[in-house]
Amino acid sequence: AAREGGQESIVYFNSRMVEGKEKVMRVQQLFPKALENGEFKVFYQPKIDIETGELAGAEALCRWIRDGRIVPPMEFIPILEQNTDICKLDFHMLDMVCKDIKRWLAEGRNVVRVSVNLSRKHMMDVDLLEHILRIIDENEVPHKYIEIELTETTTDVEFKDLKRVVNGLQMAGIYTSVDDFGMGYSSLKLIREIPWNVLKVDKSFLPVDDDSAESTRTIMFKYVVAMAKALGLETIAEGVETEHQVDVLRDNRCSFAQGFLFDKPLPLNEFEDRLTKHKYEMNK
Ligand code: C2E
Ligand code: MG
Ligand code: MG
Ligand code: MG
Repeated sequence: AAREGGQESIVYFNSRMVEGKEKVMRVQQLFPKALENGEFKVFYQPKIDIETGELAGAEALCRWIRDGRIVPPMEFIPILEQNTDICKLDFHMLDMVCKDIKRWLAEGRNVVRVSVNLSRKHMMDVDLLEHILRIIDENEVPHKYIEIELTETTTDVEFKDLKRVVNGLQMAGIYTSVDDFGMGYSSLKLIREIPWNVLKVDKSFLPVDDDSAESTRTIMFKYVVAMAKALGLETIAEGVETEHQVDVLRDNRCSFAQGFLFDKPLPLNEFEDRLTKHKYEMNK
């Protein structure tokens, strides 16, 4: 099986190219064919209901399978974001997710909501909403099964676009989540002025193992979750790796968790096992 991340995928591009112009050009050159050939795959990372240990949803994360190796997103997403290639990839991901959901429904499986990441590069696209709805509707997927993850924007113009997009998705009954909350600038304006359904607390707010209840991280985690809940948002912590963190999530009534403690992003066939019969062990 291909190993994820680290040296191996870098080798493919040749270490000298890693951050250079050459690698950017190589990725941009390979992209159209790779997209056409189906080299980009959806991996699904489970989201777990902390109270019940049940599968509550999943995040779709892109993996580029190149010569039997798995290339992680950080090796190509930032490059695809240098032009509008990323938009093609995101729509392709949404389409693949919709096709999977459509099949799960047809097979009578227990289906959960799946979130898809959308680059902020889409914000300039005035037809974005139409595009998203067309993909979902062509696959006949009920809107409630789709969630769109968006990160904060950096300019006022982008902010207005983001607000318009989230409002539109809301009206169409599609869930929206603010991703990586707490990273970057993440102003409170983002929460005050945009009607998100879900707040994803970034892992930088999660307590590390020897943190006490009075540590800065734990205090901030507590109040971010409390604020989100009071405003009616669902809360999920990402990057959960330890039991200690689960305890802190539970103490602070954060409802959902996503992280390596439960599962890494899984290829389709492994994730499908999680849809049936699986229950996560929660030590209370
Ligand atoms: P993200 O949307 O914040 O996704 C969560 C990232 O955290 C994923 O990295 C996931 O593998 C990682 N993660 C999950 N649990 C843990 C944990 O317990 N510990 C640690 N250390 N990490 C954990 P991944 O898959 O490498 O993706 C990185 C980023 O690339 C994503 O961050 C997202 O911003 C972007 N990305 C991935 N797929 C897509 C896509 O289809 N479209 C767009 N536009 N961006 C994508
Ligand atoms: Mg995400
Ligand atoms: Mg995230
Ligand atoms: Mg993140």
